[in-house]
Amino acid sequence: MTTFSDYNFKDQKALIRVDFNVPLDDQFNITDDTRMRATLPTIHKVLNDGGSVILMSHLGRPKEGPANKFSLQHLVPHLQELLGKAPVYFAHDCIGTEATEKAAALKPGEVLLLENLRFYKEEEKGDTAFAEKLSKLGDVYVNDAFGTAHRAHASTAVIAAFFKPGKKMFGLVMDGEVKSAEKVLHQAEKPFCAIIGGAKVSDKILIIENLLNKASDIIIGGGMAYTFIKARGGHIGNSLCETDRLDTALEVLKQATAKNVSIHLPEDSVIADKFDARANTKISPSDQIPEGWMGLDIGPRAIGIFSEIIQKSRTILWNGPMGVFEMEKFQLGTKAIAEATARATAAGAFSLVGGGDSVAAINKFNLANQVSYVSTGGGAMLEYFEGKVLPGIAALKENV
Ligand code: AMP
Repeated sequence: MTTFSDYNFKDQKALIRVDFNVPLDDQFNITDDTRMRATLPTIHKVLNDGGSVILMSHLGRPKEGPANKFSLQHLVPHLQELLGKAPVYFAHDCIGTEATEKAAALKPGEVLLLENLRFYKEEEKGDTAFAEKLSKLGDVYVNDAFGTAHRAHASTAVIAAFFKPGKKMFGLVMDGEVKSAEKVLHQAEKPFCAIIGGAKVSDKILIIENLLNKASDIIIGGGMAYTFIKARGGHIGNSLCETDRLDTALEVLKQATAKNVSIHLPEDSVIADKFDARANTKISPSDQIPEGWMGLDIGPRAIGIFSEIIQKSRTILWNGPMGVFEMEKFQLGTKAIAEATARATAAGAFSLVGGGDSVAAINKFNLANQVSYVSTGGGAMLEYFEGKVLPGIAALKENV
């Protein structure tokens, strides 16, 4: 497959699918520009080569056609600020005469941002004719939107068929995400420890099942641990529990034994008399939680055991917090796991932190730069770890 870094974009128009789905406030100010910043190196590489850039993205979930609330025009001033001297133009429609003319007139060093792709229902439907119209705007297709790589949409997957081999490639964001995910899933140095937390078993069950074929140790923390503990006959008081998943939990434990994977549940918990930042708390064995109390974080013994496993691992995947880390009283477990992961990384392990809340947690504890890779992929990363083929990746890997 052609690599973006090796390609010379001189006099080429790069049509780049980016993820500019950024949060906006009521006045259309961008409240978090991480996704825009992430893709700047990709844009700069094309411009520095002497090429021009056509950016396409979705923003939000517009239901019926164009709506000012979801217009990418709101991003133009900030994009201009981020890009400095490169002129940024805007096309009020992602296809049609204006987009075609502005794309054709684009000179090396210039940038054109297209209006929201999802103003056309054809985008999410993966419509071939729509994808073909988009493809005509550029000479080379670059996919840098890992966050939407799990969708078979027109601009993320279908469009690739309209570019010849050598003229379609991953951008730098996408390349980084794919490489680090592949490193964990396919080239993991053992011992490989997966840390899975968060609220619900049902959200994470497919990942756990897939990891049973890959990991040496699976640490399960957070609210989802209590369904497993109850399934094993423990008393979990008022802790989170998915009663319809008790059988699934037992099956996972059985499969783990058969596959020689060690599943680690928290031996003790920080329990609280209510779900509240000012609740009364105490430490309890996780399988002897009194009625009226609930486990909201892993306890000190669990922290010790989990940290030791993490520190002897060579590959670490972390998805989901160990407790209600948003509240100070219940953040220690998640913080300790973040610190153990950072220590293991310093000692040479490869660590990948992925999926919404664990990314928020690692940022909260200022440890993002002490792990090997922090994925911004969210849902796409989860599906990747569930073992699914992501259409955005497959489209570029096939027939090239
Ligand atoms: P998820 O999005 O599934 O990764 O879940 C993250 C959410 O799970 C966070 O908002 C945590 O506050 C919450 N959480 C973690 N541990 C617990 C727990 N023991 N009880 C209730 N909620 C929890």
